Amino acid sequence: MLIVKKFGGTSVADKERIFNVARRCIEDYKNGNEVVVVLSAMGKQTDVLLAQAKDINPNASKRELDMLLTTGEQISVALMAMAMDSLGVPAVSLNAFQVAMHTTSVYSNARLKKIDTDRIKNELANKKIVIVTGFQGVNKFDDYTTLGRGGSDTTAVALAAALHADKCEIFTDVDGVFTADPRIVKNARKLNEITYDEMLELATLGAGVLHNRSVEMAKKYGVELVVRSSLNTTEGTVVKEEVKMEKMLVSGVACDRNAARIAVIGLEDQPGVAFKLFNHLAKYNINVDIIIQSIGRDGTKDISFTVDGDKVDEAVKILERHRETSLKCEKIDVEESIAKVSIVGAGMMSNAGVAAKMFEALYDVGVNIKMISTSEIRVTVIIDDVHVDKAMNAVHESFSLADF
Ligand code: ADP
Ligand code: ASP
Ligand code: MG
Repeated sequence: MLIVKKFGGTSVADKERIFNVARRCIEDYKNGNEVVVVLSAMGKQTDVLLAQAKDINPNASKRELDMLLTTGEQISVALMAMAMDSLGVPAVSLNAFQVAMHTTSVYSNARLKKIDTDRIKNELANKKIVIVTGFQGVNKFDDYTTLGRGGSDTTAVALAAALHADKCEIFTDVDGVFTADPRIVKNARKLNEITYDEMLELATLGAGVLHNRSVEMAKKYGVELVVRSSLNTTEGTVVKEEVKMEKMLVSGVACDRNAARIAVIGLEDQPGVAFKLFNHLAKYNINVDIIIQSIGRDGTKDISFTVDGDKVDEAVKILERHRETSLKCEKIDVEESIAKVSIVGAGMMSNAGVAAKMFEALYDVGVNIKMISTSEIRVTVIIDDVHVDKAMNAVHESFSLADF
């Protein structure tokens, strides 16, 4: 069997953990499998590097940031190869350049386009465990790129797809995918299985246990994923197309604290205004999420929307530039201390009253809803950031997600 095993930062945070991972991989190798290991940077190394960069130059270019961040993964893979070697097993570490993992040009948020598998296959044929840097790629200028925070999951799934692996295991610091972040909701329950679609929604809505692109890619190439703990041998969660269990009404609750709301006040109540507003943002690749437009009154209207917290300054700058000319609005308000709380479940498609039940749970704990958005399999509300823990627990409780 060819097995791809990915270990996140906490799983390789120190010497003891590195040897723990080395032993787990060696076990598979000794059982006659081909083993490809994908690693993240050790512990919080990526955050440390980002802080160092900010200290030197708060406006550092994304190219140089990627050049810096890719060193984190390079350290962990080399140390892992040394650990395996010391345990008597031949291993080789490879970075994105050596493998040749081709991505789009966009620094800090590149997408994998193609992975050359020859080098990896040769090393496997030479009976080596192959250890690959997660999170990084190389673009057409031969520069390093990164895939966005948490992107090592995507490296692992892409490798599993390219190598036609028999198994793709994502090892992390929790036992699997839970009905909510177990660090916030103590009663959260581990799911045995979840569909790609539900997992994709949860990941996109803030459940950081998997990078959302990794789920997108797993669905596209039919890679069945197992999410499990690197610290014990508990069976994890299988992420796949169809689940055997009867679909639950709601399969999970997620939160995203990295959101901001922008309100554009006093726009003209005329055709083309929304187009102009969002076109300015689209030109700079700023994604807009929940949008609310007020009813026009006295010839004016307001449009509010949410953006990622790290894009808000750029978005406001762009809009301010056009405030008096093309937008002709009175003012632009920003609120940064907001959070998104969402419920996700394929079962809610055919069930009325799911949203109402969520709103009731929030009302019961006195949490005010600022914005609402829904799709077939999710309901999202925007609330004050200070209420996130209370809201998550109340909503989770109301859908009895801890019962079984
Ligand atoms: P890694 O470094 O292994 O990639 P991450 O920190 O990226 O680990 O992801 C694991 C974390 O995801 C957990 O520690 C947990 O706090 C968080 N998390 C958020 N939502 C969920 C969820 N629904 N199920 C499990 N973990 C979740
Ligand atoms: N080291 C990177 C990060 O911290 C990638 C990853 O961990 O998946 O975001
Ligand atoms: Mg992660």
